[in-house]
Amino acid sequence: MSSRVHSISSKVTGMIIGVSTLLALVTMLIQFVWNYLGAVDNAKAEIRGYSELILPSIAQALWDADRPLLNDLVLAVSRLPAVSLVELSSLDGFTVQSDNAANSAQTNPNARIEMPVMYEQQPVATLRVVLSNSEIYRMLWQQMVFLVLGNGIKTLVMAFVILSLLKHLVIGRLARLSAFANTVSLANGERIHKPFWPANEQDEIGSVGRALEAMYHRLRSDLALIRMQQRQLARRGRALSHTVAAQDSQLTWLANANSLLAKVSLQFLAATSADASKELNHFTRELGALLGVERVSVLEFVRGKAIYRSFWSSNESDTPASELVIDNLPLLKQKFGHSHTLVIEDIENLKESSPQEYRYMKQVGIVSAAGFAIADGDTLLGVLSVANRQGPLNWTADKTHILTQFASALNELWLRERHESRMFELQQELLRANMQLAREAETDPLTGLTNRRPFTDRLSMQLEQGGVLLMADVDFFKGYNDTYGHVAGDDVLKKLAVELQALLQDSALLARIGGEEFALIAPVMSADELEALCDGLLTHVRNLAIEHKGSHFGIVTLSLGAVNLDNCSSVRDALSQADASLYLAKQQGRNLAVINGRVSPKPQLIVSS
Ligand code: GH3
Ligand code: MG
Ligand code: MG
Repeated sequence: MSSRVHSISSKVTGMIIGVSTLLALVTMLIQFVWNYLGAVDNAKAEIRGYSELILPSIAQALWDADRPLLNDLVLAVSRLPAVSLVELSSLDGFTVQSDNAANSAQTNPNARIEMPVMYEQQPVATLRVVLSNSEIYRMLWQQMVFLVLGNGIKTLVMAFVILSLLKHLVIGRLARLSAFANTVSLANGERIHKPFWPANEQDEIGSVGRALEAMYHRLRSDLALIRMQQRQLARRGRALSHTVAAQDSQLTWLANANSLLAKVSLQFLAATSADASKELNHFTRELGALLGVERVSVLEFVRGKAIYRSFWSSNESDTPASELVIDNLPLLKQKFGHSHTLVIEDIENLKESSPQEYRYMKQVGIVSAAGFAIADGDTLLGVLSVANRQGPLNWTADKTHILTQFASALNELWLRERHESRMFELQQELLRANMQLAREAETDPLTGLTNRRPFTDRLSMQLEQGGVLLMADVDFFKGYNDTYGHVAGDDVLKKLAVELQALLQDSALLARIGGEEFALIAPVMSADELEALCDGLLTHVRNLAIEHKGSHFGIVTLSLGAVNLDNCSSVRDALSQADASLYLAKQQGRNLAVINGRVSPKPQLIVSS
């Protein structure tokens, strides 16, 4: 900038000197012309005046023909300044010329004077004076030296004064203006603390300075405005991106929550009662991860107590209390009676209003909690609850909405579970009744032994495997009834059933197939074993020694008919063969066995009354 100022200064200086010099030259030229014309006029006037003084003398000398005088007079005129030629011509042809006629080459044809010489009012001659230009110029040059010097000094002084004024009034101030403009920077945001230009300078540069200052302030305020707008835009941009990110994460959370809800609902729907608790444990763990909470629990209310159905905690050493008496927690009861939702962001808020809940939560180390009723209409079944041990839950309406739906899914599960459990109990009852009926249908009510139908079924099976079939009939039992009464007869039958059963192995089946007739199926055995079995049975009954006055044995005895099933073609055939053997035993005297149609060779014990 300073080099630019310098160039302006030298340019202005050159211009001033140039213009001043030109003006001085023009002035000098005009002065020269003016002086020249003045000098010519002065010379002419001086010559004319002098000539007029001597013209009478010239006229007299002419008249006297005084030639030396004439020469002297002409010489006198020629000695006047700037005269180059003096010529006196008389009318009669007499001529006198001045000595310096040699200078006539430099004569000025326009600068000549002719004057008539009069004698007694009559022209007698003409005096012609010619001026010398070189002489006039010489005089002029003497004057011009001072003129040139004066004008030169004047020009220099003027240039100096103008330059000083220019420097003081313009260039210096422009430099200050430039320095000011150089110090101003919008980028660093500095303020101009004091005005750089005196306020009273009301000229153009002052006005430019003030305009510059005003422009600077305008730019500053515009820049400040732009920066403020930029900051606002940036703030809004940040806020917008935060909002978008928050909405995005909220939408992602909702999508995850809904997908978990759908998954859980399906799992609950497919879960049987047996794996419901496994599903519940999965559910509490996934719900904890979704909500970012530290504890999730599912409580079931049973007779005024809350029992943990499922419990998950981020801290593995954290275990739930075994059970919770909800009658001791009035706020919980009251809340779930109405809104079905309870959110406690900070348990300190409960300190005054609900001291029991406050104490309970302090005891289990919870600082914030939210609970959602699992309810069937007005019946409160349990609570789905989430809790934090460290800080607030930062609960939202979305979470309430989702948790309410989870609670509703749990409610569905429990209702189904309860329904299934009732159905199961009913089925069990029915099964028990059916089994009872089946047992009753297949059991002889008096003795508790298998009755005829299942016995024949077993016989049918046993035919394929082989084995033995025995039939036993109480001897003279009609007589027993007649003697001791029907009730006593029943007692005998019961006793015989117990005693015979006690003798047999588990593989054998004893049944009552008629009024006082028993039958027995036993696995494959040898003939000796069969004989021993028959003998054992008969002996055991005899050894019971039940008095029977109506029998000629004096005691209750049996008759047996036994067949090997290998010899039987069908159930009917087996029964018929055994019956035939029994009939034979009766015929042979009773109190004995007939095995495969042959009377057992063992001696029969006859007990006489
Ligand atoms: P035996 O067999 O030796 O030829 O003579 P019995 O007197 O036993 O003759 P039978 O087999 O014809 O008679 C069966 C009797 O058993 C008839 C009936 O009074 C009696 N009886 C049948 N069922 C029951 C019963 O359930 N309870 C009692 N107390 N007696 C019964
Ligand atoms: Mg009988
Ligand atoms: Mg009988």
